[in-house]
Amino acid sequence: MSAQNGTGEARAEQLAANLARVEQRIADACRAAGRDREEVTLVVVTKTYPASDVRLLAGLGVREVAENRDQDAAGKAAETADLPLSWHFVGQLQTNKARSVVRYADHVHSVDRLRLVEALSSAATAARRQVGCLVQVALDAEAGDRGERGGVAPDAVPALADALAAAPGLRLDGLMTVAPLAGAYAGQPRAAFDRLMEISSRLRETHPAATMVSAGMSQDLDEAVTAGATHVRVGTAVLGVRPGLR
Ligand SMILES: *Cc1c(COP(=O)(O)O)cnc(C)c1O
Repeated sequence: MSAQNGTGEARAEQLAANLARVEQRIADACRAAGRDREEVTLVVVTKTYPASDVRLLAGLGVREVAENRDQDAAGKAAETADLPLSWHFVGQLQTNKARSVVRYADHVHSVDRLRLVEALSSAATAARRQVGCLVQVALDAEAGDRGERGGVAPDAVPALADALAAAPGLRLDGLMTVAPLAGAYAGQPRAAFDRLMEISSRLRETHPAATMVSAGMSQDLDEAVTAGATHVRVGTAVLGVRPGLR
């Protein structure tokens, strides 16, 4: 921090205040739902923000961070490799990026097709890495389809989960969703997250270790915690409004 000026300090204070507000929301939602605070992990989504913010967040006690583009994530992970951080990849992922992503990501939340399972598996094996994977569920997709923002329709979850569980170098850790902007669940995050919890319960009958439920962002993290999410992915509420639509 010695090279940081007053601006860095102001940013740290701002991030600390934002983190405290998010922490309060998570704690309130846990209390209201009769859940232990320890059941929910805050993953801070640092996309579009610089590695210096990641460093400040680490100094404030953040340990789980997420990115949605390999081009940005790889550099930030390298610049902050000295910090005790766990990286989550949460964006739509092209198979040709798998080799890069498995080098820094401990979790990939956005697995939504068999080709990606195969690409991640061979990349993880070659890198001698074990990567935790979540099946991304699209609650706005018809049976057999993919979602507008990635993910598979609920009917495709079991087959993809089986493939992940059997893939060398990968570990099936659970499910992820983004509350849909269209379809029956548009504007109904609570109903969407309840549906995800049902799919998760069914998945755990055959894969009991797949306990992660990644749901909830800045706008709807409260509903996600109420429904039973184990991981909330929060960007804007911690770092500020991003320029552009990412
Ligand atoms: C950007 C992003 C988030 C965080 O969204 P905010 O609304 O900024 O909290 C969560 N999940 C995914 C997949 C994202 O791309």
